[in-house]
Amino acid sequence: MIDIKNKQDCCGCSACAQRCPKQCITMAEDKEGFLYPQVDTSKCVDCHLCEKVCPVINQDEERTPLNVYAAKNPDDEVRHQSSSGGIFTLLAEQTIKDGGVVFGACWDNEWKVRHDYVDNISDLQRFRSSKYLQSVIGDNYLKAEQFLKIGRKVMFTGTPCQIAGLKHFLRKEYDKLLAVEIICHSVPSPGVWQQYLTTRLHTSKWNKSDIRNISFRDKKTGWKTYSFVIENKDGNSFIELSSKNAFMRGFLADLYTRPSCHACPAKQLKSGSDITLGDFWGIESLMPEIDDDKGVSAIIVNSDKGKQVLHNINVELHEVQYNELTTRNPALVKSFPITPKRTEFFKEYGNTFEEKVKRLAKEPFSLKTLAYRIVRKIIPKMVVEKLKRFLR
Ligand SMILES: Cc1cc2nc3c(=O)[nH]c(=O)nc-3n(C[C@H](O)[C@H](O)[C@H](O)COP(=O)(O)OP(=O)(O)OC[C@H]3O[C@@H](n4cnc5c(N)ncnc54)[C@H](O)[C@@H]3O)c2cc1C
Ligand code: SF4
Ligand code: SF4
Ligand code: SF4
Repeated sequence: MIDIKNKQDCCGCSACAQRCPKQCITMAEDKEGFLYPQVDTSKCVDCHLCEKVCPVINQDEERTPLNVYAAKNPDDEVRHQSSSGGIFTLLAEQTIKDGGVVFGACWDNEWKVRHDYVDNISDLQRFRSSKYLQSVIGDNYLKAEQFLKIGRKVMFTGTPCQIAGLKHFLRKEYDKLLAVEIICHSVPSPGVWQQYLTTRLHTSKWNKSDIRNISFRDKKTGWKTYSFVIENKDGNSFIELSSKNAFMRGFLADLYTRPSCHACPAKQLKSGSDITLGDFWGIESLMPEIDDDKGVSAIIVNSDKGKQVLHNINVELHEVQYNELTTRNPALVKSFPITPKRTEFFKEYGNTFEEKVKRLAKEPFSLKTLAYRIVRKIIPKMVVEKLKRFLR
């Protein structure tokens, strides 16, 4: 049975919860705002399936890619709505044209990020652009499995650990599955995000229901110097360069990163994905002729299936060496060390108002409380209780 002793040993993919035949695992939020499995041991039958599908317990080998490219979606509007060069949309459109379904991360009504699926090209905009939060997988591995079992094409997108979780959950290869991972520096805490958003909205005197869109990667100020934007339904916006935005600064400084990201089980192409997508940071020094500061994608092809799918879409590919990408984008191959500032950040986080006051403010001193403490020390508890009852 799954038993998380060290938080670094769980990436929160929920493969265990979805595979448990007794449905005795639930994903519960911890004090830092991340989800972890909790087992109802009274229902567990010790079948060990949860351990067998866990991508942290069963890590795969590092891989070297077949090919690496720089590329851009030829549709500038789609590229503007995307974080990098908009290659996700090209792959997803092709899947839907072939009668398939696409799984990805989108906002819900509460401005939390969850996985979902669509089978309509016009709905793909829900998945476009990076949301810098850990997305809740829910039961989407099960849904993807159901589509695959009836012979439908599935393109499943997510962080490398989410793809590793899916592949272990499925326990067999499906020809019709295209697994696409994004390069992933790390994921910040969804709980911290909700705290930030509440404070941010309070300052603007907006409610969650007033929001029309939130973008972590708005390109109005450029691809390289992107902005954080909240737009409300009246057409007003809060816009701040990401380098100045408090939530983005904390994310990039690893103040509230998921512990598993500091010992990532799926980087270095270990996830089993067919294709990896990322930003081609530093392209201006490698191929200045294709950089227009509107976004260039890095595409890493990891399997023959990935190669075939990529060559079926309408995109100009510029081949590069793998090390030309990894030196410019180390998040692809390297976990970043945990910082002591993270502990400092979380010292106060998660405590309720009352808990904070209890810890930080001294109890008021009075003769009555002093007398009560002395009496409690010298008279046995049972006698105090009897006295209390008598005085009532
Ligand atoms: C948390 C996070 C960290 C990242 N770190 C890096 C990095 O260090 N280096 C780098 O080069 N690129 C990183 N990226 C990936 C990059 O920002 C783009 O998502 C990727 O290049 C695809 O861009 P696109 O232009 O093709 O399509 P876009 O339309 O921008 O991408 C949409 C895709 O991203 C997926 N997605 C969006 N948010 C999430 C989420 N929260 N969880 C899982 N999947 C999500 C969608 O499902 C969809 O597949 C990160 C993305 C995220 C979400
Ligand atoms: S051992 Fe089997 S029954 Fe028990 S929690 Fe794991 S999957 Fe569920
Ligand atoms: S990594 Fe995934 S499968 Fe493993 S314990 Fe965590 S949620 Fe479960
Ligand atoms: S850094 Fe690794 S563990 Fe963290 S979210 Fe990304 S893929 Fe998962």
